[in-house]
Amino acid sequence: MDRPTPVRERHADTQRGLVLMVIFALGGAGLLTGAFTQGWGFWPGFAGAFFLLVAGLAAKGYRDGGGAGVVACPACGDETRIKGVRAERYLRCRCGRWSHGAAEMRLVAPDHLAAEPVFQVQIPKGASWPSQCPVCQAPATGTTTIQGTSAVGDLAAAVAPVSVQSVVKMDVPCCAQHRDGVSIVLEGDDVVGSFRSMRYWTEFMAANGLEQSSTALILPPECAQD
Ligand SMILES: [Zn+2]
Ligand SMILES: [Zn+2]
Repeated sequence: MDRPTPVRERHADTQRGLVLMVIFALGGAGLLTGAFTQGWGFWPGFAGAFFLLVAGLAAKGYRDGGGAGVVACPACGDETRIKGVRAERYLRCRCGRWSHGAAEMRLVAPDHLAAEPVFQVQIPKGASWPSQCPVCQAPATGTTTIQGTSAVGDLAAAVAPVSVQSVVKMDVPCCAQHRDGVSIVLEGDDVVGSFRSMRYWTEFMAANGLEQSSTALILPPECAQD
């Protein structure tokens, strides 16, 4: 089983999401109005602005990408729920394989290069970085310093009057032409990296002893008791 799989829409999930979005928008508007006209103070106003921002981002997501759906992995058939049925996406299945597409999903080729960093991995402490360019695979000629923030912090910072962001910096290999092969974000205390190159992702996983296929960790039922 290794052919393209079509995305199927799930209208009930889409409707549930739209109802939530309206509740957030109404609640946010109510809190903001109260803060300004009834003197409720700062925090209700802050929460109101935050709820409105979340509702606005959700509305933009529906407009740009469409509603909710489900798609099967082209390799093993395992299903994943998705948002944005029309949007281009990369998915990693529990079987370890990456797939890519919009209306239908295909397996990502071993030498695939994405337009942006999409192939994610949790960067271990003291990670070893394969010494080629993470875009063109030529020998790296140096390193470039990249930095990342947490997505939750970015969202709060958009409406908060004080800085709530934490920042992480890291030196990663590059060649003279490519400095955009890797990006990082903070998730709690973990640094999550994303690579443009499928080949570099594969090499990084191998160099750091990370499991490429999570199925290797699942024991057959008869061995599970031991
Ligand atoms: Zn799969
Ligand atoms: Zn390069």
